[in-house]
Amino acid sequence: MGAETTAHSPIHILFFPFMGHGHMIPMVDMAKLFASKGVKTTILTTPLNAPFIFKTIEKSKIHSNINIQTIKFPSVEAGLPDGCENFDSIPSPEFIPLFFKGTELLQEGFEQQLSLQRPNCVVSDTFFTWTNDSSAKFNIPRIVFYGVSFFSMCATECVRLYKPYENVSSDSESFVIPSLPGEIKMTRTQVADYLKIGDWLERLTKFREVEEKSYGVVFNSFYELEKDYADYYRKVIGRRAWHIGPLSLCNIDKEQKKYRGKEASIDEHEWQNWLDTKEANSVVYVSFGSIVNFPDSHLREIALGLEASGQPFIWAVKKSKKDGEEWLPGGFEKRIEGKGLIIRGWAPQVSILEHEAIGAFMTHCGWNSTLEGVVAGVPFITWPVSAEQFYNERLVVDVLKTGVPVGVKRWCLFGDMDDSIKWDTIEKTVRNILGKDEAAEEMRKKAKELSRLARKTVEEGGSSDLDLDAFIAEFDSLRG
Ligand code: UDP
Repeated sequence: MGAETTAHSPIHILFFPFMGHGHMIPMVDMAKLFASKGVKTTILTTPLNAPFIFKTIEKSKIHSNINIQTIKFPSVEAGLPDGCENFDSIPSPEFIPLFFKGTELLQEGFEQQLSLQRPNCVVSDTFFTWTNDSSAKFNIPRIVFYGVSFFSMCATECVRLYKPYENVSSDSESFVIPSLPGEIKMTRTQVADYLKIGDWLERLTKFREVEEKSYGVVFNSFYELEKDYADYYRKVIGRRAWHIGPLSLCNIDKEQKKYRGKEASIDEHEWQNWLDTKEANSVVYVSFGSIVNFPDSHLREIALGLEASGQPFIWAVKKSKKDGEEWLPGGFEKRIEGKGLIIRGWAPQVSILEHEAIGAFMTHCGWNSTLEGVVAGVPFITWPVSAEQFYNERLVVDVLKTGVPVGVKRWCLFGDMDDSIKWDTIEKTVRNILGKDEAAEEMRKKAKELSRLARKTVEEGGSSDLDLDAFIAEFDSLRG
């Protein structure tokens, strides 16, 4: 191994997250988790991303075990605007390939850091396929972090290998995903576009090739949540894997949660006092993660649907006061006073979800959000948009049975989004999930049980805790 530490010093892991909040947040949590076990950790990032990480680390008791290093992000060299170092600051979709190009230009800086730091192991984002070769040069094992569920990893692989979407005659005809445990049904427009878009199929194939050559894969998930798929991934797909989640649970105190990701755009007392006035399980929390940007017409439908449901809501929208108010129906805010709270910008999601007044989570099914909802024990209204979110919807709706779909039919990365969901569907779905009928009660019960399992798995001796210990022990033994 390339490490210079001795067998008695703690092992050293270098974490290298992709520069997007949905990727950085769980990897920073992971570094904190390892640090809490006495592991020496280094997080590698770029100068403009470092402050987001620094804030949350600073608030953590184990910050002395975590070191942040930066390498220059070549925005201008890659053709991006100066200062564009995070996926959420990409001005428009045409810049996406340039952003990826920029990350490839990080190789030299990454290798310099490996040479300086000499960690025992590298955990890097799946998008950074080249880190496999770089790590091999230094004889350091590389672990891949996708930041997705076992379920979606297995489903994506079965769809990629068996191409079931080629055997249906229309967009609305569903197919069962071959070989995958359970009768998981999807339609062509929920997966095939994902595979056809740009060079995604090639990318996906490359991810798989590199994953096979890497030392293993680490998951932000827990065994009890998706046993069949964790087993399938290990035994049928045949990879070495560790499950060590839910990672968000490593943020124990208020301050750590407050600075997770970005700083919240709302004062803590404001949302807390507001929620304190609501009944338990009565409020729907609406958020579509850090990237999805719905057009104004969609936002208006959401606003009208929430209002018509008559249920209290907290809605996190990526808009600021300077964007004007055209995206809201006229007089909306006045009419919903006391009933609805809009957070323009970054919501302290994990803290909000934990409040007992929250009774449902309308989500795009990003994996972090999905798992955070599981931890909080809330049922979901699923509104997938892109990436592997349609698979996560199936996990929640068909396997866990803790969610209802709003009914989105078409995958879309940017631009031409599925606009078939109108206010009346939103109204009905919100009412149903927060209702008192048997189906809603059953879903709430299941969600609470999953929350209990999620908390237990990270406790001492729980399945995720044991896998974390196994990971550390393995790298400890590898250095001889
Ligand atoms: N998030 C948050 N506040 C926001 C928006 C997002 O705290 O206003 C966090 C959320 O808790 C989650 C992450 O950002 O940890 C989003 O990751 P996810 O995988 O759900 O979706 P993505 O943003 O990658 O699409």
